[in-house]
Amino acid sequence: MSHPSSKVVDLRSDTVTQPTEAMRAAMLAAPLGDDVFADDPSVNALQRQIAELLGFEAALFVPTGTQSNLCAILSHCQRGDEYIVGQQAHCYRWEGGGAAVFGSVQPQPLDHQPDGTLALDAIEAAIKPDDAHFARTRLLALENTLGGKLLPFAYVEQATQLAQGKGLARHLDGARLFNAATAQAAALGADVRAEARRIAGCFDSVSVCFSKGLGAPVGSALCGSREFIARAHRIRKMAGGGMRQAGLLAAAASYALENHVDRLADDHALAQRLAQGLQGIDGLQVELPQTNLLFVDLTGAARSRSGELLAHLKEHGVLATGLYRLRFATHLDVDAAGIDRAIGAIRSFFRA
Ligand SMILES: *Cc1c(COP(=O)(O)O)cnc(C)c1O
Repeated sequence: MSHPSSKVVDLRSDTVTQPTEAMRAAMLAAPLGDDVFADDPSVNALQRQIAELLGFEAALFVPTGTQSNLCAILSHCQRGDEYIVGQQAHCYRWEGGGAAVFGSVQPQPLDHQPDGTLALDAIEAAIKPDDAHFARTRLLALENTLGGKLLPFAYVEQATQLAQGKGLARHLDGARLFNAATAQAAALGADVRAEARRIAGCFDSVSVCFSKGLGAPVGSALCGSREFIARAHRIRKMAGGGMRQAGLLAAAASYALENHVDRLADDHALAQRLAQGLQGIDGLQVELPQTNLLFVDLTGAARSRSGELLAHLKEHGVLATGLYRLRFATHLDVDAAGIDRAIGAIRSFFRA
């Protein structure tokens, strides 16, 4: 057994978690079948579970969030259609242009407002009239949380109602939907699952990652109507995402839904603890976190020192990423002692 102080505190991402012993046991115990024949009981159970939880008719288990968004966009849009999306949205900026490359679907990116939202009048102005000059605007894609920020629920309602009124479909990249729901539920004194369902209810399709804060090793789900999921199923096959005894992975996701949703609040509290611990350091501008992602800007003379700082942290057993803006993600495999170690290591760098 390794000494706790030798364990690396890995704050690079909430994707770095190891499956817990109990999750591994659930994976080993899972009944399996060939999911390409729709024969895997564990995949079928997960798909029913997440669809029901979020209030949709159907769901599809996919290997990654990227493939989930691709299946969604290509199921909502045809060649020559376009989707309205944020400049920083994962399904525009961070997926290799997949919708354009594989689907001939053009993005119409819009700048974000400081709170992560896309201005309603900007969305409205971006919707093209029916005219041979223009791509057909078919879809509004939002992301929640976006860069760790919870989109205000009133905004989500307004933006999706606007889209619906203009005949657009609405997709949510909810890779961290349960982090959003946790923050929203905390603010309202409400139930996390009820808030997840309320956010999801504003959309025609929702993608959720199990491999982020929920702590599963692999996998996402795309939720929507039966007819929409049938189309997405075909695209998943084309993308090479038809997996066989995938129940081994689906069982981890089911375990995560049952056991790791309520503990996301702990991750949010640890991000707060880290933010508090970094207050008042000359050279750091700390953005107070709403969920499990903390962003810290390097300022003044420290601005050019991120490489040095990250190397110093690594020497002290703490991992993070960033250039002028550092990102720290809290998750299942980080505890208060690890956060305090990170605070100590960062403080020691600025004292030197
Ligand atoms: C991680 C992430 C994805 C993609 O997930 P992968 O499984 O890494 O492909 C999509 N959207 C958002 C917002 C994400 O954070």
